[in-house]
Amino acid sequence: MSVIAPKDTPVWVNEQRCKACNICVSYCPAGVLAMRDDINAVLGQMIEVVYPQSCIGCMECEVHCPDFAIMVAKRDEFKFAKLTPEAKERAEAVKQNKYKKLQG
Ligand code: SF4
Ligand code: SF4
Repeated sequence: MSVIAPKDTPVWVNEQRCKACNICVSYCPAGVLAMRDDINAVLGQMIEVVYPQSCIGCMECEVHCPDFAIMVAKRDEFKFAKLTPEAKERAEAVKQNKYKKLQG
C-alpha cells in the first residue's frame, strides 16, 4: 500500500481504519496523540493528533497500531522535534486521563 504523506505533517491518521484502541496513545512518549469524544465514530472516540509540533518521529505509534491507521513522515522529509520535559509530562498526563484529550 502506498501512502502519500500530507505536506509538512509529521504524523497523520486514516480515520476510516482507526478502531480507537488507545494503543498509539499509550506508546507516544511526547504527548502528541490523544483520544477525542466523537459521536460520529463507531466506538464514540477517535484518535487525534493534538500536538503535531511535539512529534519526535519515533514511529512507536505507527509500528504498534494493529490497524495500520496512523502514519509517520520519513526523517528525510520532515524535521521532527526533540523530546522536551513538557512533552513528556503531557504524555504522562494523557495516560493518567485514560488516554483522553486534556482539557484547556
Ligand atoms: S493504535 Fe491505531 S487503531 Fe488504535 S487508536 Fe491508534 S490509530 Fe487508532
Ligand atoms: S512518531 Fe512517536 S512522537 Fe510522533 S506521534 Fe508517533 S509515537 Fe508520538
